[in-house]
Amino acid sequence: MKKLILGNWKMQKLFSDINPYFKVFKAKTYNFSLKLGLAVPTLYAKSCLEAIETTPFMIGAQNVSEYDNGAYTGEISAKMLASIPVSFCLVGHSERRQLFHETSAVVLKKAKKLQEVGILPIFCIGETLNEKNNFKTVLKQQLEGVFELNPKNLVIAYEPVWAIGTGKTASLEDILEVHSYIKSFFKEGSYDFSQVQVLYGGSVSASNAASILKLANVDGLLIGGASLEALEFEKLICTLS
Ligand code: PEP
Repeated sequence: MKKLILGNWKMQKLFSDINPYFKVFKAKTYNFSLKLGLAVPTLYAKSCLEAIETTPFMIGAQNVSEYDNGAYTGEISAKMLASIPVSFCLVGHSERRQLFHETSAVVLKKAKKLQEVGILPIFCIGETLNEKNNFKTVLKQQLEGVFELNPKNLVIAYEPVWAIGTGKTASLEDILEVHSYIKSFFKEGSYDFSQVQVLYGGSVSASNAASILKLANVDGLLIGGASLEALEFEKLICTLS
């Protein structure tokens, strides 16, 4: 299975940044077996889809409503995302869990809504620094109910909260340990979730991406800050080929 490299623009960048950003990638040809994607503000998704042209990017969203439709001012449903159409959507990013108080039950509900319309959920999990010694319990709690999802259309992103946007990447040993734990969790019981890809995220940059991606059980990367500038992201991607 191709490794997955996803950028996350978060609430950064303006509409006028879209074309210059993709122009950098249009100018290059890529000859490697990675899948690339960008989680963009939903407001820009359609324009990004138009701008990608020959670039190898999938376009995704960063959040979805837990509801189908109705009087939910400001919300965007999975069906709406599918009508753009976006290919994937983040759920349960630590910023959503912490700043917007999304519970694991809500995250699961959102992932289900995405799967119902054929969008790939990128199901984010990760422990805080205080929880680091207890990561198995925390991740297990965040993954509660995950076996109700369809493993054929599911990706997990492990992002230690203390490593997001801080410049403090987890050590290779820590990443290996946690990814091996997640993979073993997915082999539990009678469930066959062994094909579910597990990405790492947290201060990934051009200088550490290749060594992280080479680790066993790391099936891709979720990249915030280093995906904001096209030249920087392009440089990072080139270290992986
Ligand atoms: C993220 O936004 O998911 C992320 C990992 O950010 P950063 O790469 O900036 O740490």
